[in-house]
Amino acid sequence: MNESFPYMTSLATPQLAPRMSAVKPSPTIEVSNAVQALKAKGEKVISFSIGVPGFLPPAHVYAAAEETAAKDNDTGGYLPGRGTPELINAFLKRQKEDGLHYTPDEVCVQMGGKGALYNIFQILLGEGDKVLFPAPYWVSYPDMAALAGATSTTVYCPASQDYKITPEQLEDALQDSTIKAFVFNNPSNPTGMLYTPEEVDALAAILVKFPKVSIISDDIYDKITYGAPFKSLTQSEPSLKERTVIVQSISKNYGMPGWRIGMVAAPQSIIKALLTLTSQSLTNIPAVTQAAAAAAFTGDHSFLDSVKADFVKKRDFVLEELSKLESMTCPKPEGAFYVFPNIDGLLGKSYNRKTIKTDVDFCKALLEAEKVACIPGVGFGDDKALRISYATDMDTLKEGLSRFSRFVNSLT
Ligand code: PLP
Repeated sequence: MNESFPYMTSLATPQLAPRMSAVKPSPTIEVSNAVQALKAKGEKVISFSIGVPGFLPPAHVYAAAEETAAKDNDTGGYLPGRGTPELINAFLKRQKEDGLHYTPDEVCVQMGGKGALYNIFQILLGEGDKVLFPAPYWVSYPDMAALAGATSTTVYCPASQDYKITPEQLEDALQDSTIKAFVFNNPSNPTGMLYTPEEVDALAAILVKFPKVSIISDDIYDKITYGAPFKSLTQSEPSLKERTVIVQSISKNYGMPGWRIGMVAAPQSIIKALLTLTSQSLTNIPAVTQAAAAAAFTGDHSFLDSVKADFVKKRDFVLEELSKLESMTCPKPEGAFYVFPNIDGLLGKSYNRKTIKTDVDFCKALLEAEKVACIPGVGFGDDKALRISYATDMDTLKEGLSRFSRFVNSLT
C-alpha cells in the first residue's frame, strides 16, 4: 500500500479489447522512430524509409486553402459527410478526365487513402471472410483485415516476375470460394511496379469469371507513372464497375500527405455504407483541406511533368548504383517513388562477425554501420527484399547510395 497515495494500489492496467492483439504498429513507423532516436543523438542519418513524395503542391492549392480558411461560414459548422459539393464536383471532373464516369452519389471523401481503406475493409469484411492480395503488398492491408475480423491470403510474386501477380496465379487463388475481396494496388507500394494496360486487361478478364469477389482498387499513385499509361481494371472490363471500389488520395499524386484527403468511387450501396460508418466516427473532413483537394483535382496538372522527370532521374541513378553491387537484383519500377531490391544473395553473409540472417538484420546492420535507413521487406510480405524511397534530393541520394554500397561491399 502506498501511504501517501492509497488509491494507487487500486489502479488496474486498462484491459485492451482482444482485437488489439491482432494488430502491430506499422514497420515504416518503427524505422522512422529509430531514425529520430539516432538523429536526437546527433548522428547524420540518411533516411530512405519515408513514403512522403518530397515535392510541394502547386500554388493554386494554397490559395484555395487560404481563401476558405478566411471564410467563417465555410469552416465553422459541420459539413456534409460525403464531402463539400465543390470537392465532389472537382473529384468527378478529375475522374471523368481520367476516363472514369461516376455520379455524385457514387463518390465520397474520407480521411486519407488509409482512412478510406480502413473503412472499406470494415464495411465489406467480417469474421470468416478472406481478402486476397498479391505480395509484396502495402503494409497496412493485413492489419486492416485483422481489425475487420477477416483473414488475409496472399499470393507471392517474386522479383523474377517483376513482383506482379499473373493471371494464372490470380485465377488459381480465386478458386477459394471464401475469398470475398481482392485488393489491387497499382502502381505498387513497396515495389513501384506498374501493370501495363495489357496486364491489367488480362487480370480484369480473370476477375470477370468470379462475380462474387469485390475488388478494392488502390490507385493512389496513378499519376506518378513513367512509360506505360495507367489503366484501371474497370476501364479494361466495364462490368467490373458494379463491384469495384476505387481508392484515391491527394497524398502522393499531389504531394499532400499531411492534408489527409482520400476519395472513394464505388457503387452507391458501398458509398452509403461508408457514410453511415463515418457518420458515427469522423462526421466530416475539415473544410480547408477539402478546398485544397478540390483545387488540386481541377487545377493545372502540368507541374507533374517536372515532378516525374525528376523522379525518373533519381530512379535511374539508384538502379545504376544498385546494379554495380553483386548479389542484388532489382526490377525496374515504372511508377511511384520506390525501388525494392532483392537481397537474397546477401543473406548469410556477415557484418562485424555477425551473420545477417534476415532482411531485418540487414537493415539494422546498415543503420548501425552507415546510418542509412531502409525498410525491411518482411512488413510488405517479402522477407528477401528491402524498400528504398528515392523521394529525396540528389545529394542525399548520392551520399546514401555511396554509404549503402560501402556497407554491401564490406559484408564477408
Ligand atoms: N495505399 C498505399 C499503397 C499507400 O502507399 C499509402 C500510403 O503510403 C496509402 C494507401 C495511404 O495513403 P494516405 O492515407 O496518405 O492517402
